[in-house]
Amino acid sequence: MIPFNKPYLTGKETHYIEDAVKRGKISGNGHYTKKCHEFFETTYGFNKVLLTTSCTDALEMCAILLDIQPGDEVILPSYTFVSTANAFMLRGAKLVFADSRNDHPGIDEEALAKLVTPKTKAIVVVHYAGVACDMGKIMDLANKNDLFVVEDAAQGIDATYKGKPLGGIGHLGCFSFHETKNIQCGEGGLLIINDNRFVERAEIIWEKGTNRAAFFRGEIDKYGWVDVGSSFLPSELNAAFLYAQLENIRDIQDRRIHIWSLYKEQLNQLESAQHATLPHMLEHASNNAHMFYLLCSSLEERSALIDHLKSKKILSVFHYLSLHKSPYFADRYQGNELPNSDRYTDTLLRLPMYYELTDDQVHEIASHIRSFYQNQ
Ligand SMILES: *Cc1c(COP(=O)(O)O)cnc(C)c1O
Repeated sequence: MIPFNKPYLTGKETHYIEDAVKRGKISGNGHYTKKCHEFFETTYGFNKVLLTTSCTDALEMCAILLDIQPGDEVILPSYTFVSTANAFMLRGAKLVFADSRNDHPGIDEEALAKLVTPKTKAIVVVHYAGVACDMGKIMDLANKNDLFVVEDAAQGIDATYKGKPLGGIGHLGCFSFHETKNIQCGEGGLLIINDNRFVERAEIIWEKGTNRAAFFRGEIDKYGWVDVGSSFLPSELNAAFLYAQLENIRDIQDRRIHIWSLYKEQLNQLESAQHATLPHMLEHASNNAHMFYLLCSSLEERSALIDHLKSKKILSVFHYLSLHKSPYFADRYQGNELPNSDRYTDTLLRLPMYYELTDDQVHEIASHIRSFYQNQ
């Protein structure tokens, strides 16, 4: 079987975990957490970052930081993972779903202005497949209407918008280190705080509503309960694992970009023959090779292609049932039809993508896809 994903290990993970254990402090915010923070602040120039237990948790921190209250409206794409929505739903927000672009599953920037009302508090964008949304347009709209912008950059590590690292453009940004992402530690995430107004409070929310981080820096002489919060910081064991991955990010990214380009070269003819559509790169975005996908011409065709690949021992997967049509939300939804979101729900198919996928395997997968379409 060629799996859909295989988490890559650089070899140093267990070495750093052992070192963390020997250091005798394996709760959060220790040696390896600081090394990871330094990595992000120096490599991408982020203002302030905090490792979290997941991207879901980083998004929940955003909703607390923005002080989302029941009835506040939050605009977000429907074609996304549930956590983008849940984090704000949990605080009582009214979710206002936007459609995807016609040429890319990311949010349709042009559709946003008419969704803004006096109750709108924030826009949450998702850089789908690590491909940047048009942050220039989004920040302009937000500034004009006094809204906050959160970047769900769960898939967006090491990618840029007009040269600026994703996660570092909105007021707040989030990464995921779930094992299906480019850089992973099983479960993990990062909160990126670009607006200084949120820095002090973010650290408090991160540490269960206490000012313990400031206490450990020696800035105050006792710590206590000063705000709401939760346990959002990961153990040093996760941070140590993650650090081994971060040290190898260039090698990991080079390999993934090579695989992505090979898929593109091997499958280009499908597009010229109008069989299937390949990922469309946007001019303002760089490619971090998080995902390679095809857009089939119908749900039936996609199901047949999945079965065909399975019969050749290749696992391909689809995802994101539009959230406005999900079992949880369908009854609550009152907005417009979102035809592009529905189209991606029905036709998008993700191909195997992981560091150890060999060139031969990519050739093999591509040839099975080409023969599927030749026999259509
Ligand atoms: C993976 C992902 C998440 C959730 O990340 P976790 O670290 O698993 O919580 C959220 N949003 C998007 C767009 C994702 O792809």
